[in-house]
Amino acid sequence: MSPAKGEKLIEVKGLEKHFKHVEVLRGINIDICKGDVVAVIGPSGSGKSTFLRCLNLLEEPTGGQIVFEGVDITSKETKIDQMRQKIGMVFQQFNLFTNMTVLDNVSAGPVLVKGMKKDEARKLAQSLLERVGLGDRGGAYPIQLSGGQQQRVAIARALAMQPDVMLFDEPTSALDPASTMRIEELMASLKESYTVVIVTHNMQQAARISDKCAFFLVGDLIEFGETEQVFSMPKDKRTEDYITGRFG
Ligand code: ADP
Ligand code: MG
Repeated sequence: MSPAKGEKLIEVKGLEKHFKHVEVLRGINIDICKGDVVAVIGPSGSGKSTFLRCLNLLEEPTGGQIVFEGVDITSKETKIDQMRQKIGMVFQQFNLFTNMTVLDNVSAGPVLVKGMKKDEARKLAQSLLERVGLGDRGGAYPIQLSGGQQQRVAIARALAMQPDVMLFDEPTSALDPASTMRIEELMASLKESYTVVIVTHNMQQAARISDKCAFFLVGDLIEFGETEQVFSMPKDKRTEDYITGRFG
C-alpha cells in the first residue's frame, strides 16, 4: 500500500556503490517521505547521479538496502520492473525517442509496459502534454522542439507511467534561463501529487524549489535537513563551505 503524505516512501539504508575499486557511495542513510521535494546537491563527482540511479536500480548497489513503499527493492525476489513503473526519471539530455512524435513518446510507455489501450494512452498523453503547456505539439518530432520543450515532453512521458516518485538528474543543466524557470515551476507543481528528488548543482534552484536538501561530498551524505536550515544554518562546516563557495 502506498504510504500517506509525510510517511516514509523510500528508506535508504547503508547504501554502497563501488565501481571496481572506487567507492562512489560509502554507506548512505536517508529517508525520503511522501510529498517531499528533496534536492541533492554537492560538487561534481560526489556521487549524486549514482545515488539517484541506485534508487531505481539503474545502478545495482554493492551493499545496503533500498526499501520502496515497504518493499526491499534490492532483494533478489523483488520484481524490479513492476517497482520501476512507480519511479519516473528525467535526465539532463531529455532522451526522447527521436523517431516518434511527441504524442507517441508520451503514450508509448503506458501501451507497451502497462498494456493500456492505445486510445486511452493517447488521451492520457494529450492531457499530460496540456499540463506541461504543449497540448498543440503532439504531432511534432522532438527535433522540432526547443530543449526546454523537449524536457517538458520528457516530464510528461515520465508522468504517463503514473509513478509515485519523480527523479530528476540535472534537468535544467542544458537549458537557458527562461526554460529553466518553466521547468522549475513544473517540478514545483508536481509536489501536490508526487514525491520529487532533484539532483542539481544549481544551489539557487535547490533553495527555490526544495523542502529538504541533501549535501553529498565524495560519496558521503554530509547533511540532510530542511532546505531553509541547510542553507541558513548548516550544521556541518563542509556544507557551509560549499554553500558559501569557499570550497577547495
Ligand atoms: P555526480 O553526479 O555527483 O557528479 P557521479 O555519481 O556521476 O557524480 O559520479 C561519482 C563518481 O563515480 C565519479 O568519480 C565517477 O567518475 C564515478 N563513476 C560514475 N559512474 C561510473 C561508472 N559507470 N564506472 C566507473 N566510475 C563511475
Ligand atoms: Mg551527476
